[in-house]
Amino acid sequence: ASSRSPRSVTILGSTGSVGTSTIDLIRRNPGAYVVEALTANSDWQQLARQAIELDARTVAIGDPAAYAPLKEALAGRNIGVAAGPEALVEAAAAKSDWVMAAIVGAAGLAPTLAAIRRGAIVALANKEVLVCAGDLVMQEVARSGATLLPVDSEHNAIFQVFDFERTEAIEKIILTASGGPFRTLDRAEMAKKTPAQAVAHPNWKMGAKISVDSATMMNKGLELIEAKHLFRMPQEKIEIVVHPQSVIHSLVAYIDGSVLAQLGSPDMRTPIAYTLAWPDRMASPSPRLDLAQIATLTFEAPDPERFPALRLVREALEAGGSAPTVLNAANEVAVHAFLNEEVGFLDIAEIVERTMAAIPVGPIDTLDDVHNFDKQARDTAAKLAASYARSAV
Ligand code: NAD
Ligand code: MG
Repeated sequence: ASSRSPRSVTILGSTGSVGTSTIDLIRRNPGAYVVEALTANSDWQQLARQAIELDARTVAIGDPAAYAPLKEALAGRNIGVAAGPEALVEAAAAKSDWVMAAIVGAAGLAPTLAAIRRGAIVALANKEVLVCAGDLVMQEVARSGATLLPVDSEHNAIFQVFDFERTEAIEKIILTASGGPFRTLDRAEMAKKTPAQAVAHPNWKMGAKISVDSATMMNKGLELIEAKHLFRMPQEKIEIVVHPQSVIHSLVAYIDGSVLAQLGSPDMRTPIAYTLAWPDRMASPSPRLDLAQIATLTFEAPDPERFPALRLVREALEAGGSAPTVLNAANEVAVHAFLNEEVGFLDIAEIVERTMAAIPVGPIDTLDDVHNFDKQARDTAAKLAASYARSAV
C-alpha cells in the first residue's frame, strides 16, 4: 500500500473489457482511489451499478436515449447524470488525477483529448485515437504536459524497458503478435469464418472490435502506428514478430545487441495496474508466469500475404497525412459490417484497401481535417460494405 492520498480517477468506457478490469483493480484497493466520473455508450444498467458501487461523482452516457432510464436508476443519489457526446467530453474534462481512456474507436478522440488538454495522467487503451490523429494528439500532450501511459500490453511492455533518456541507443522495437485465432489458416479457410469464430481469441478476452482486429491482424497494424507515435520511432525501426503464447509482450533492441523484454501472463490487469499505480507499483491478481510449465516459447515471421492488413498499415504510414485516419475509419466500418454478418471476413481488409485507394491523401493539420477524412472514409467504406452485402445475397 502506498502512503499517498487517494488518486481521483475517471474511466472513459467503464463498461467495456478494459473498463471493467480497471474497476476490478480499484475494487481490490479500497481507500486508494476515488471515482470522479464514469462513462459508457449505451449500457446504462451496468453504468448505474458501477456508479453506485464506486460512489462516483458523475456519470455520462453517449446515447441520449439512455439518459432517462439512467437518471431514474440513480434517482435520490448524489451522482450527476449527463448524456450525449458533449457530456462524454465534459466528464473527461472534469478535474481528476488520472483518466483511463478505454472507449473503442475514433469516438474516443474528443474525450481523450479533453483529458490530455487539462494535463491529466492519461492511461491510453484507446489506440484508435493515436491511429486517427497521432501527430495532433502528441502535440497536445507536449503542450499540456499531460502524462501519457500506454495500456496496450505491447506498448506498456515497451514503456517499461524503453530508455527515454538514451533513445539514440535504441536500434528497434519489436512488437509481439499472438497471430489471432486464424494464425495457421489459409485464405480459403478464413473466408468462411463467422463473427463468433473471429472473436474467440486463443489468449485474451477482449471487446468485439479488437478481437476481430486481432483475427485480421489489423490490431498489430494499428499498434505499429500507435508505437510510432508513443515512442517517436520511424516505422522501419518497428518490427512485428508472431509469438503465439503471448508471454513476451514486446521487446526493445539496443545498439550493443541487448534486447530487453517485459513478460507476463496474458491478463490486462497487469498493464492496467502499472498505469493505475504509476509511478508506484500495485499488486495485481493476474495469474503468475510459470516458465517451467510453459516450457516453450515460439516465434515466427508475420505473413502479409495471408494478413493483408499488415501491408495496408505499412502503406498508410508510407503515404502519411490522412492515410492512417482513413485506414482506421474504414476498418471500423468494415469490422462493424462483419460483426453484423453483412460482409465476409476477407472483405474487411478489402474494404479498407479500396477505401484507401478511393480517397486521395491530404494533409492533417487540424482536428477538422481528422473529422473530414474520417467521415469521407466512413461514407466510402459503408457504400462498399453495402455493395458486398448485396453481392453475398
Ligand atoms: P469494449 O467494446 O469492451 O468496451 C468499449 C467501451 O467504450 C464500453 O464502455 C462502451 O460503452 C464504450 N463505447 C463504445 N462506443 C462508444 C461511443 N461511440 N461513444 C462512447 N463510448 C463508447 O472494448 P475494449 O476491449 O475494452 O477496448 C477498449 C479500447 O482498448 C479499444 O481501443 C481497444 O483496442 C483497446 N484495448 C483493449 C484491450 C483488451 O484487452 N480489451 C487490450 C488492448 C487495447
Ligand atoms: Mg495489444
